[in-house]
Amino acid sequence: IRGAGTWKSERVIASRQGPHLRLAGGGAGACGGRRRGGRSALEKFGAGLSSVRFICGTQSIHKDLEEKIARFHQREDAILYASCFDANAGIFEALLTPEDAVLSDELNHASIIDGIRLCKANKYRYKHMDMQDLEAKLKEAQKHRLRLVATDGAFSMDGDIAPLREICQLAQKYDALVFIDECHATGFLGPNGRGTDELLGVMDKVTIINSTLGKALGGAAGGYTTGPKPLIDLLRQRSRPYLFSNSLPPAVVGCASKALDLLMESNAIAQSMAAKTQRFRSKMTAAGFTISGKDHPICPVMLGDARLASVMAEDMLNRGIYVIGFSYPVVPKGKARIRVQISAVHSDEDIDRCVEAFTEVGRKHGALP
Ligand code: PLP
Repeated sequence: IRGAGTWKSERVIASRQGPHLRLAGGGAGACGGRRRGGRSALEKFGAGLSSVRFICGTQSIHKDLEEKIARFHQREDAILYASCFDANAGIFEALLTPEDAVLSDELNHASIIDGIRLCKANKYRYKHMDMQDLEAKLKEAQKHRLRLVATDGAFSMDGDIAPLREICQLAQKYDALVFIDECHATGFLGPNGRGTDELLGVMDKVTIINSTLGKALGGAAGGYTTGPKPLIDLLRQRSRPYLFSNSLPPAVVGCASKALDLLMESNAIAQSMAAKTQRFRSKMTAAGFTISGKDHPICPVMLGDARLASVMAEDMLNRGIYVIGFSYPVVPKGKARIRVQISAVHSDEDIDRCVEAFTEVGRKHGALP
């Protein structure tokens, strides 16, 4: 790209966008005294950039957040997107050629599936978390130039966690790269909230992480890819949702940046999430319910019957607890459930009250003896 002269450098703006602006490094105090948080970013950097990144849409806060994301995940570099959907839509096409192969878990998130559809690599779909099937597909894919295994780190419907240790072992054995989508893990899974790779001790083995700023990291919007620097450089040149979509608004960047500061200052939030999740899961199991998945704050209370899930969810709401029944076509027939999502701001009392309400409602509707 450099040889062709089409490499695009980004100018870093250190002030609000307007008729007059200041570039980073353009004078004393250009980046000094930056306050965190969405409101101060809004005040200082404006509502938005009206531009994609490489024209006039890169501010110092975008570069700072990318650096912070990379540091948080212990990776070389990071690139921001308007959403993780965009990050997933942009990565496969930019990275893989028709000579390559991508191996994808059959229950991967829709945005991974769409991203893979857009690329011209050879596609293999392995059975959900089935390592025998993945190995068979990896053997088949040896004929290709490069192999990429793609999986959600944590799957949101069942609250189950990908067997990353085994996946990384297979990837090593069959010379493949590993990509994980951490939307349901970043900020709370693992001892320091780094995600599934931290939880399972494979931070140095997973090559690429895509995740969202729109869930645990502040809940506003935005997504990113973090991984090896040459990959991030390539994405800036070639990834279509990055090149052809406006950059993240400063308030969103400010919120996410503050969320990362909090997580890097202390692991108290991540630890408390694990403790609250464990409290809910063990108390519900002791009460006689089946909770799908393991160790994840998404706790699907499995009920089977769609009507039962719906009336129980309604009755929980009558008791002041907001939970939603999930049934076909969102989940397979006969696997209806109520999905409970534990949050860092739930107290132990909230959790106990929820378990009590479930127990009463479960007895009333025959889900418990
Ligand atoms: N990947 C997974 C696993 C998700 O659950 C979601 C959102 O629901 C996304 C990607 C998309 O994230 P975003 O909302 O940032 O586009």
